[in-house]
This record gives sequence, C-alpha cells and structure tokens, in this order.
Amino acid sequence: MNQLDRLRERMAAANVPALIVSDIANVQWLTGFTGSFGQVLVTPTDAAFLTDSRYTLQAGEEVATMPAFSFGSPKKHEEFLGEQVARMRITDLRFEPTVAYGTVEKWRGALNGVGLEAAPETLVPPLRMVKTEDEIAKIAEACKLADACLEHVTRLIQPGVAEFDIGLEIEFFFRRHKAGIAFAPIVASGPNSARPHARAGERKLEVGDFVTLDLGATLDGYNSDITRTFVVGRASERQREIYGLVLKAQRASIEAMVVGGNGKDVDALARQILDEEDLAQYFGHSLGHGLGRSVHDAGRLHFSADQPLEAGQVWTIEPGVYLEGFGGVRIEDDVVVTDSGPRILTSFPKELTILP
Ligand code: ZN
Ligand code: ZN
Repeated sequence: MNQLDRLRERMAAANVPALIVSDIANVQWLTGFTGSFGQVLVTPTDAAFLTDSRYTLQAGEEVATMPAFSFGSPKKHEEFLGEQVARMRITDLRFEPTVAYGTVEKWRGALNGVGLEAAPETLVPPLRMVKTEDEIAKIAEACKLADACLEHVTRLIQPGVAEFDIGLEIEFFFRRHKAGIAFAPIVASGPNSARPHARAGERKLEVGDFVTLDLGATLDGYNSDITRTFVVGRASERQREIYGLVLKAQRASIEAMVVGGNGKDVDALARQILDEEDLAQYFGHSLGHGLGRSVHDAGRLHFSADQPLEAGQVWTIEPGVYLEGFGGVRIEDDVVVTDSGPRILTSFPKELTILP
C-alpha cells in the first residue's frame, strides 16, 4: 500500500471526508516533493498536490502519485485553494491541528461555505512513524555521515579551541558532503554541558571539561541525530562514574527497544538505572523521540506517552545527566525497531574518550 492509500484508510476510520495536508513534512512524506511550499487535498477517490510557481517544474518531476497544480501572481493562495476545492467538488474539508488560526480564517473566507474544521485526530504523523525500507536506508545514510562528522571534529577537541569553531566545522563538514544540517549543532563545554540544549558559544575548551556534541545531517530529506560527550585532557573519578552510568542506561534502553515493548517502560528503565546513583532527578527531558523527515518526528519516549513499539519505527535513545556548575553527559544513538531486535544506525564509539 502506498502512503496515499494508507492515509485514506485512516481518514475512513476517523470519518474524515476530505483532508488538506499542509504541514510541509507531512506533504513531503506523502508526495516525495522536496520543496518548501505545498499542500495536498485528499478525498476517498481523488488527490491533488498544490504549490506555487516557484515549484511548478520541480513538482512535475517529483510528485508521481497525484496531479500537481500551481498558481502565480497576482492570484492569492487562498483564492487558488478555493478553486481547487471547488474543482474537486469537496463540500466538507478537515485541516491538520497544527495549522495557524490566521491561516484557517483566510481559508474559510475563500472557501465559500465549504465546511472547514480541524481533523478529529492527527492523521499523518502516526503513519510516518513506521518507516519503509527505503526511508530507513536514507536515515542510515544520514547516520553514517553524522558518524563521519564526529570522527572529523574530534581532532578539534583540545584546550583553547572555542565551541563556536567546532560548531562551524560541523556545519562545513555536512555542507562539503552535500548534506544539510539537521539542526544548529550543540557544542557545550565545561559548565555549559549542564544545559541540554546549549548553543555553541565563545567559551574555549579547558582541561577537565566535559564536551557534549549533538549533531545531525539532513540527506535526501531524512535526518540523523547523534550525541557524544568527551572529556578534555583528564577525567575525574566523578566524571567517570556519571559517564559510566549514563552509558549503562543508554545501552540497556536500546536493548529494550523491541516489538511489543512500550516507550514509557523504556523511559522508566533508563531512569531506574540512573537512580542507582540517585541521578534520575538530573535527567529532565524525555528518553528519545521519533526520527525521520523531521528531527523531532512523531512520537516521544516519555513517562506520559503510551507508545507501543512497532517494527519499522526509528527512535533516538538519549539519556543525560546535567549537574549545574559541574557539567553534563548525554549519549544519543538512532535505533530502528525490527522483528529481530533493535538495530543501531549510528556507530561512533561511545566508551569514555579523553581527548586529545
Ligand atoms: Zn540530538
Ligand atoms: Zn535527539
């Protein structure tokens, strides 16, 4: 079954007569389009890809499963949408819950009495969670490039080098390899490493620092997301203890990513291991997230998320411990759930490494 048929099946189950898919990651997943602007109108028997004149030619090349239509100046987008809805004889349309209020009001004004309401549930993201072989192969390529990037920048992990320069080198590396950056790389040293989402700043690395690098590539529309924490010069006993426990929690969590498991149980397992040293209280974020066309794809591994694990899902596993004034450790890998157990897509070594 192709993506469009899978979506139609879900629409039927949710009693959705017609849907406008406008979240660009969902649009790209559904159509194969790689540009930045487009929507899809879907009914039980018809579908249309809509974009503007910047992408007319590209849509013709990339969108294979439905006809593509585009508009240009002086026509407004909402006018064009109104015409397409009328052409497809849609009388009752649902939109995704992430559409901005102002956009909905604009659409409503142009749709001339067509019913317009939010869809009763998110329809595309749950489908996106289970990846095809082709999608997994693309994520795996992005993971390989992230591994290579880490290998490349470890030579910069030495006293006196600024976080900012390491961050730039990561970006250069991905660009040089015809990839995009999945997100602004995190390079957090010393006390900054206690901030899970620190941006690379002016601070220069010092002996005894933890240095956390969190980076990812976007390749062929798919992302990778890997984190490693290093120590500069020499590691203290306390650093070794904390690192060892985070690594133990990370490895056990990966092993627990099996078909039939539940994400909230895996999240609890990681916290239980960190609590062997009373450290779970310093692990504030979720254990992981779905990974795919978006870096934070659908799905969270979190105490409040009832998340059955299924073959074909791709997840990050990223426990961390963050101690104010001391520093932090996070170790993150990307994992596919398969019928024969978890398959790890990122392979950069994760034993404690002291550099240079
Ligand atoms: Zn990450
Ligand atoms: Zn992540």
